[in-house]
Amino acid sequence: MTQTIKRILVTGGAGFLGSHLCDRLVALGHDVICLDNFFTSQKSNVVHLLQRPNFELIRHDITHDIWLEVDEIYNLACPAAPGHYQYNPIKTMKTSVMGAIHVLGMAKRCRAKVLQASTSEVYGDPEVHPQTESYRGNVNCIGTRACYDEGKRAAETLFFDYHRHNRVNIRVIRIFNTYGPRMHPYDGRVVSNFIRQAIRHEPITLFGDGRHTRSFCFVDDLIDGMIRMMNAPDDFVGPVNLGNPDEFTIRQLAEKVVELAGSSSVIETRPLPSDDPTQRQPDISLAREKLGWEPRTPLAEGLRKTIEYFRSIDLGHFRAPTPNF
Ligand code: NAD
Ligand code: UDP
Repeated sequence: MTQTIKRILVTGGAGFLGSHLCDRLVALGHDVICLDNFFTSQKSNVVHLLQRPNFELIRHDITHDIWLEVDEIYNLACPAAPGHYQYNPIKTMKTSVMGAIHVLGMAKRCRAKVLQASTSEVYGDPEVHPQTESYRGNVNCIGTRACYDEGKRAAETLFFDYHRHNRVNIRVIRIFNTYGPRMHPYDGRVVSNFIRQAIRHEPITLFGDGRHTRSFCFVDDLIDGMIRMMNAPDDFVGPVNLGNPDEFTIRQLAEKVVELAGSSSVIETRPLPSDDPTQRQPDISLAREKLGWEPRTPLAEGLRKTIEYFRSIDLGHFRAPTPNF
């Protein structure tokens, strides 16, 4: 069976997840437009695609309107690491809300299908565990994480209103902590921080007592789920959780990274940032049922691949996106 070649826009396409998504879509033969303002990424993530005839790169800020003709849109543009999204919180909120309005307007005009990269942060500091899609969350709307959490919640609202009122063909995925090669070494998220510190034999910065939990999904698995959701039947628009249900304490993660990197780093505690969720684990029953999807990569295997990537790059070639990493 021959597959239809589609014109696909990936906003935030030069970022960590976006660049892996572009790789997959280009390999499938689609015409891919990668749009990014390079706030938390750099061209090196997609430089290998620049010579491909079915790949195009546009420097653009999604808070501004843009006129393109496409069949599908993956909306990933948004800083995702707490330090960087809190650096300019008003801009973060604008990116989620105005970005959503712009991609939804484009989808309406072009009759394109549009997928929103939402987040487990819509559940805030969850009182329900594991988190199901029907849980409405526990977000502090005036806290330091609110610019991201509430921005993503408002974006989901816009997606569902465009769907109900304008019949825009939408998909909403709620991504749980995902890691892997091409994470920015200075993005400040826990996996990149611990690996960068471990391979340099520097102290591992454990925030709080390390008993709070996260569930970590390897990037290849996540991209697989994302594409499956875009291709799901039109009567399933989500929201759907995508993540790995294997839950670990942050201390366990620190110990595993030190062990796998063969590092002499010691673990040092630091104050826990405000509103840091105490637990997080996706219930992925819906993704299993509707998409036939579940992650395949165990944490140790994914961490090994990520450590290998961090050893292969020259950290001196990367600049921190903001002073907050
Ligand atoms: P990332 O920071 O690597 O990627 C985000 C990309 O968006 C970057 O390339 C950045 O330069 C770009 N960007 C930011 N603001 C922009 C703007 N105004 N205009 C155009 N481009 C802009 O982070 P990521 O982990 O790849 O996250 C991608 C998406 O997935 C984000 O929307 C994030 O909220 C969502 N998400 C990621 C995770 C995760 O664990 N990685 C979890 C939940 C949700
Ligand atoms: N964390 C940590 N040390 C670090 C960075 C993060 O202990 O150097 C903790 C952080 O407090 C949080 C968890 O690791 O409890 C995950 O943090 P991350 O910023 O990766 O993502 P999020 O909090 O958005 O899930």
